[in-house]
Amino acid sequence: MNTSVVDVPAGPTARSRRPVIALRNVVKEYRMGDNDVHALRGVSLDIPRGDFVAIMGASGSGKSTLMNIIGCLDVPTRGHFWLDGVDVRTLDDDDLARIRNRKIGFVFQSFNLLPRMSALANVELPLVYAGVRPHERKVRAARALEAVGLGQRMDHYPSEMSGGQQQRAAVARAIVTNPALILADEPTGNLDTESSLEVMAVFDVLHSQGRTVVLITHEEDIAAYTERVVKLRDGHIVDDYTQDPASARAIHQAHADAGRGGVPR
Ligand code: ADP
Ligand code: MG
Repeated sequence: MNTSVVDVPAGPTARSRRPVIALRNVVKEYRMGDNDVHALRGVSLDIPRGDFVAIMGASGSGKSTLMNIIGCLDVPTRGHFWLDGVDVRTLDDDDLARIRNRKIGFVFQSFNLLPRMSALANVELPLVYAGVRPHERKVRAARALEAVGLGQRMDHYPSEMSGGQQQRAAVARAIVTNPALILADEPTGNLDTESSLEVMAVFDVLHSQGRTVVLITHEEDIAAYTERVVKLRDGHIVDDYTQDPASARAIHQAHADAGRGGVPR
């Protein structure tokens, strides 16, 4: 019996719906000179496995702070956070690094691809850190690139790819370890509409494969692809609702039908 497992409401589905992410009264404060910055002021949130969630809010509302905690890149000042049932406070730095590598795939606004490496080599990197052997690394990285529609561009360097292609390569890098959770901070923030659509189509497919996807955005039309919206203001959750997602694939198809190109599959 693992006593660190978060209490979930009793019921027949309680076990299978154990949240991948559970936060209770999470507070994050930063010290800035003589001032305390209250980035999160008591956030409680459950995200069940398979959810597709947008975290929204104005600049400075605490979105990135929340993502950094969920992604085990930072720890709460106070409160509790369980990742996949594990109380993160019980873990040391090595454990946290291992969890980040094995359970979480990160996607950032600025792609963060290494410029002197091909798409394939970039996508292989998390597997290098995980100690996977070279041949298996190549096979798995190639598969991840094919899954995001970049099967023809594996040997390309970041400078030879469009923004949308670079971000799809970054998504391939995020999924290559087969993580329980995909976390994306403003993944379309540097992309034009067409490229944003390509990237959202990829997230949509990942979600339909049963993966848990949490993305941060301040764009309503990006949040519209998800099935749940959590809104932050001044470090508080001020809204949390489910919605019928606009299917990125349907919108993409409409674009393709209109002759505007799209996501290669
Ligand atoms: P968002 O991603 O919604 O723009 P952030 O989570 O980045 O918001 O920031 C929330 C608040 O915390 C802001 O007031 C920001 O200035 C502050 N903050 C974030 N990170 C730090 C830090 N490392 N040191 C000091 N203050 C920070
Ligand atoms: Mg931010």
